[in-house]
Amino acid sequence: MTFPLNPDLHSHSTVSDGMLAPEQLAARARTNGVDLWALTDHDEISGQARARAAAREQGIGYLTGVEISVTFADVTVHIVGLGFNADDAQLTAGLAATRNGRDARARAISQRLQELGISGAYEGALRYAGNPALIGRAHFARHLVETGVCRDATEVFRKYLADGKPAYVPHQWAKLGDAVRWITRAGGTAVIAHPARYNFTPAAEDALFTEFKTHGGQGVEVVTGSHTAAEARLYAGMAREFDLAASRGSDFHAPKESPCDLGQLAPLPPDLTPVWALLTGRIQ
Ligand code: AMP
Ligand code: MN
Ligand code: MN
Ligand code: MN
Repeated sequence: MTFPLNPDLHSHSTVSDGMLAPEQLAARARTNGVDLWALTDHDEISGQARARAAAREQGIGYLTGVEISVTFADVTVHIVGLGFNADDAQLTAGLAATRNGRDARARAISQRLQELGISGAYEGALRYAGNPALIGRAHFARHLVETGVCRDATEVFRKYLADGKPAYVPHQWAKLGDAVRWITRAGGTAVIAHPARYNFTPAAEDALFTEFKTHGGQGVEVVTGSHTAAEARLYAGMAREFDLAASRGSDFHAPKESPCDLGQLAPLPPDLTPVWALLTGRIQ
């Protein structure tokens, strides 16, 4: 039997904006038939030891993971890191710097919402943030759904929180080259997350892929929770064109909320190099 049969290398826990603890995610991954898993919390690796231990308990393979927020050409881009050494000092310091400013941003988001007649959003969002240092838009979305302002998170983003909407607060995240280097110098592989979500012009997208490679990036998510089958085919083409390995991950955050559950993904096109083939020595 070949391993892995069902890798899922993108997911979130209460350490960032997921709703399940790392141990609950590991159990759910196992139940869903995932045999290689990575917890990829936003800008934070403090859940890695728990995730690795829980994966071992469940008898599934584990790769360390993170999803770093980057600003590229004025657009927020996410870079997933896999298989790095979670004790690396530079990576740890870079992530701490990237997290900095989330609280001030959250207060500014709340202020915008206040001006739109929605009060108390900061305090409401904070109640959903398992880790206050990682307070983010998903926590606001849950609060606004819970209080009946919107029907679901999609509506919250469409009306208020997406880029350009009235409660959107621009933010400077990490630089692309820095994020890629933090990951690769810690022994990991950098992967462009959900590339179909960025609404880049073709020229800007080409620049992203080109610069990502120049900095040492090696992978791109092809099959992921927010990609349609057509988008997966499109980015399979980009993986071939740019000679990048392909990754597969649900981006699962929470039951009911997430469109794709752990492990419930189509296979990668068989001609692509899977990113885990670059990381065989890093699987724990
Ligand atoms: P932040 O890092 O605070 O900017 O929040 C980004 C997070 O918001 C993403 O990782 C998703 O969890 C969530 N998100 C972004 N866009 C949407 C959307 N259209 N619908 C639901 N959740 C979204
Ligand atoms: Mn998220
Ligand atoms: Mn993302
Ligand atoms: Mn994600």
